Amino acid sequence: MDFVNDENINRYADFVKSLNGGGGKFYIMTFGCQQNEADSEKLAGLALLMGYSAADNPEDADLILVNTCAIREHAELKALSKIGGFKKLKKSNPELIVGVCGCMANESHVVEKLKNSYPYVSFTLAPGDIHRLPEIVAGILSGGKRRFETESDVHPGIIEGLPVMRKERHRAWVSIMYGCNNFCSYCIVPYVRGRERSRRSEDIIRECRDLVQDGCRDITLLGQNVNSYSSDISFAELLLGIAKIDGDFRIRFMTSHPKDVPDELIDVIGAEEKIAPHFHLPLQSGSDRVLSLMNRRSTMERYSGILEKLRRSRPGIAVTSDIIVGFPTESEEDFDATLRALSELRFDMIYSFIYSPRKGTPAAVMDGQVPYPVKKERMSRLLELQGAISLEKNKLFEGRKDPVLVDSFETREGGGICSGRNAWGKLVHFEGTSEMIGTSRDVRIDRAGPFELYGTIVK
Ligand code: SF4
Repeated sequence: MDFVNDENINRYADFVKSLNGGGGKFYIMTFGCQQNEADSEKLAGLALLMGYSAADNPEDADLILVNTCAIREHAELKALSKIGGFKKLKKSNPELIVGVCGCMANESHVVEKLKNSYPYVSFTLAPGDIHRLPEIVAGILSGGKRRFETESDVHPGIIEGLPVMRKERHRAWVSIMYGCNNFCSYCIVPYVRGRERSRRSEDIIRECRDLVQDGCRDITLLGQNVNSYSSDISFAELLLGIAKIDGDFRIRFMTSHPKDVPDELIDVIGAEEKIAPHFHLPLQSGSDRVLSLMNRRSTMERYSGILEKLRRSRPGIAVTSDIIVGFPTESEEDFDATLRALSELRFDMIYSFIYSPRKGTPAAVMDGQVPYPVKKERMSRLLELQGAISLEKNKLFEGRKDPVLVDSFETREGGGICSGRNAWGKLVHFEGTSEMIGTSRDVRIDRAGPFELYGTIVK
């Protein structure tokens, strides 16, 4: 594995600064997952390095970056429609540079479409090429051609030391690995984000230490398949290494795969207080037949075995999951197995998705695509059942008093409402003030809903 500190980044950034006189504003629009949020913070860091300052809206920007998501067709259409809206901005500001980044920028059919049908788009930048932003902007500013390429193989390794403009101080995303080797049959990720590559543990631990020293209270380790982390140490050892950092903070991680949950990891989660008592472990279907078609390399038996051990090791741990409804050939019997799985496994919450075919994945061309009305009807049954389970789980918090890390504040008539998450990842609302953002407050839970908790701050 090649770990690079790309010295050209500063050289190109200085060049851009000299071309635009250190002025200019940038605007980033982000779609999709936390990995994209984290990437956008790096894109913003690079834009600052090039002398741009942040604009509040695209109309004021000289550089617009759209960080896209390819996971579902809907997300792609939404991004394309937003990009289409920039046509009139380019008309009024011919100097405007519009770049498309993220997973869609690594799909050749999308790149072709952007090149041919969106003349106001200046370049595409695949996820593994983020560090090349200054080089590309420098090329365009100095009169170069529009640039449309999918991921280059110039840097097959990991670029360390990119500048990051973090949105929040109290909470941070830390990418620990990139890509995925699993090729679940419905998923586009391995095709657009490449094979798994893990950062060095010393770089990750150093980044986490710096964050904690800077006041960060909640660190989420990110990876498409975070628990497949494989470097000089295992994922469990990495968690232990981060937990040893002095300070009052929590460690979270996502997203995990059931094939990589060894007992060693479960033991560490059980033993380390700093690891949040929350595990997000996608199940996707309760039917072994469907799981096999999905290429999930897991079974219901294996999955429930993990949960059993996990709950024994860390009593009260919150478990959330992902479920796909209407995968090709899913029968009523298969779907019943999923409903049964929800009843037995009792997740705190699920993210559920109606299966939507992604061009280029094996599932998209499978026979037995389930008609949309059937998928929709199954989805409503699934949501009804899970809603009742989530409510029952959340009710266990009523009357309890736990710290909540405040993320946001909203003004209401006669006061304001703070929102944040407790250690179990539950969303909690309570009366507070804007100064509370970024602090931890003890909150007693008065009432539980299926998706959130409502409480009162304890003085
Ligand atoms: S584990 Fe499967 S669903 Fe998750 S990113 Fe990899 S291929 Fe996609």
